[in-house]
Amino acid sequence: GATLGVMGGGQLGRMFVHAAQAMGYFTAVLDPDPASPAGLVAHYHVDTGYLDEQGLAQLMQRSAAITTEFENVPAAALVTLGAHRPVAPGAEAVAVCQDRAEEKALFVRAGVPCAPHARIETEAELAAVPDSLLPGILKTARLGYDGKGQVRVADRAALAAAWGQLKQVPCVLEAMLPLALEISVVVARSAFDEVVQLPVQQNLHRDGILAVTQVPAPDASPALQQQASDCAAALARALGYVGVLCVEFFVLQDGRLVANEMAPRPHNSGHWSIDGSDVSQFELQVRTLTGLPLVAPRQHSPSVMLNLLGDLWFPQGASAAEVTPPWAKVLALPGVHLHLYGKASARPGRKMGHLTVTAASAAEARDVALQAAALLGLPAF
Ligand code: ATP
Ligand code: MG
Ligand code: MG
Repeated sequence: GATLGVMGGGQLGRMFVHAAQAMGYFTAVLDPDPASPAGLVAHYHVDTGYLDEQGLAQLMQRSAAITTEFENVPAAALVTLGAHRPVAPGAEAVAVCQDRAEEKALFVRAGVPCAPHARIETEAELAAVPDSLLPGILKTARLGYDGKGQVRVADRAALAAAWGQLKQVPCVLEAMLPLALEISVVVARSAFDEVVQLPVQQNLHRDGILAVTQVPAPDASPALQQQASDCAAALARALGYVGVLCVEFFVLQDGRLVANEMAPRPHNSGHWSIDGSDVSQFELQVRTLTGLPLVAPRQHSPSVMLNLLGDLWFPQGASAAEVTPPWAKVLALPGVHLHLYGKASARPGRKMGHLTVTAASAAEARDVALQAAALLGLPAF
């Protein structure tokens, strides 16, 4: 088979490699860490040069087609690779997803509702933001993740302080919205304009980090789910996107749907699809990259995903001790699928793995997931 290349060696790259290998492809991973989660399982690990010319040249030499698992790969690198190899997603679409201001402009263009917001690049723009955006959240336009690079601001004084603290322009100020719940949709679009989706995913965050995903979404009405799916498809088409795209949404307390942000790659909230769907988000990534047909994924099992953060390895805040969580007990529960990413050391907040519970009913999946959470010392949901 041909070799598929991926930029970035994290857990998303690792799960892409698993899917690609299952379909008979060889794989090459570009990551500076010689023990990266994806590099450990790929056929070729390009760990020299990373995103410089040398690294890109080596990846290109190995690969028939190239994708990315890393949200912030410089658009220039995708342009360089795209001149010689099929690259999905493309540089332009990735550039939009990397910039909250451009992302919001796309939402508006595509007729997808989003939070009231203002782009702030200068002191004058800072002074000119309308009162209606306060209280709000000031976010750096670029490079934020897991709630990093954003500050909640109650009033103008706090806004000015946050602006000084973030020290990055441009920023986007968003009105603080009254959330009822958070959902996301994974959509895949092929070069031939085939669009398929995973069902709507309901997400619970703790400390700005995804903690639990439930599919089907227990609290989103069918009409709302349809609207979210339609929005995700519209955004993929508006971007001319080829690949896997995740769109995060808020559901407001008054029932309205609001798009939050997009990720130009498979997403943590779609990990359940490895075990609960007959086509996973990573298989969709392989298919879009290689021009294979897209077929609609079919969820065969209600699923609950729990993220396994590094905190599990530091019970009760113990600092130096790295322990092994009670996997055997958790795996004695029915329908538990454990995924560990092969990261050498745990840090609190670091994504070390996840587990997905599949069951015959949503109630049973939730019940078993709560038992697993209790065994691991994770909060109930
Ligand atoms: P990710 O790791 O998903 O990329 P991120 O750092 O890009 O996260 P956002 O998704 O923008 O951050 O925001 C993180 C969380 O903060 C959201 O999931 C939501 O819970 C909350 N949040 C963000 N924006 C708003 C808003 N305008 N109103 C209310 N809550 C918000
Ligand atoms: Mg984000
Ligand atoms: Mg987010």
